[in-house]
Amino acid sequence: MWRATVLTIFPEMFPGPLGASLAGKALEKGLWALDAIDIRDHATDRHRTVDDTPAGGGPGMVMKADVLARAIDAAGGERPRLLMSPRGAPLTQTRVAELSGGPGAIVLCGRFEGVDERLIEGRALEEVSLGDFVLSGGVIAAMALIDACVRLLPGVMGRLASGAEESFADGLLEYPQYTRPQLWEGRAIPEVLTSGDHGKIAAWRRGEAEKLTRERRPDLWAARKSVKPDG
Ligand code: SAH
Repeated sequence: MWRATVLTIFPEMFPGPLGASLAGKALEKGLWALDAIDIRDHATDRHRTVDDTPAGGGPGMVMKADVLARAIDAAGGERPRLLMSPRGAPLTQTRVAELSGGPGAIVLCGRFEGVDERLIEGRALEEVSLGDFVLSGGVIAAMALIDACVRLLPGVMGRLASGAEESFADGLLEYPQYTRPQLWEGRAIPEVLTSGDHGKIAAWRRGEAEKLTRERRPDLWAARKSVKPDG
């Protein structure tokens, strides 16, 4: 079973939103498993210390390599070891799909100024970022990553097809969606979508997805062109 082991100083934040909706129902059904491990359980002093002042000075605190290493080693198993970090490689749907297809993940949530660099090297942690902004801690980032993986697990999404057609599946953003009423505040649903002509509808959606991607995400569009010169 796909298993996420989260290492955090806030285990009480889990499952949180992962216990509701799609991911929560799948968790109840046993389609995946979640352990939230308190890093403090792996401290060795009376105060359960997990951090210390930065070598070389400066503000804040740094999470200790020895304590984190014990927590990671106790999690065991042959799963990818991820560190949520604004310095990491930005998370992509491709990486999410790979992780989702594997045995699960060990996910380390940072706090304070981050973690001792030697831990990242010594435990070969893969640094993963949610984007170019700074959160106060890794928990929300870990939840986002786990949610993205879990919804791709077999049996989790109601309609199997919805994973294959959505944004990024084909290197494109998703086409615009509409639902009733046909006319809302003077805006009509594009006529082609109510035509019943499935070929025309597919072609329209494809064109819209390409237009949106070119306009909003020239980076995605360029990456796609270089893979598929005919696209
Ligand atoms: N001083 C650090 C930021 C620490 S933020 C720096 O400048 O790089 C505290 C923790 O929040 C990090 O250790 C990380 O686990 C998490 N975090 C913050 N922003 C993140 C992001 N964009 N993606 C993933 N994790 C993030």
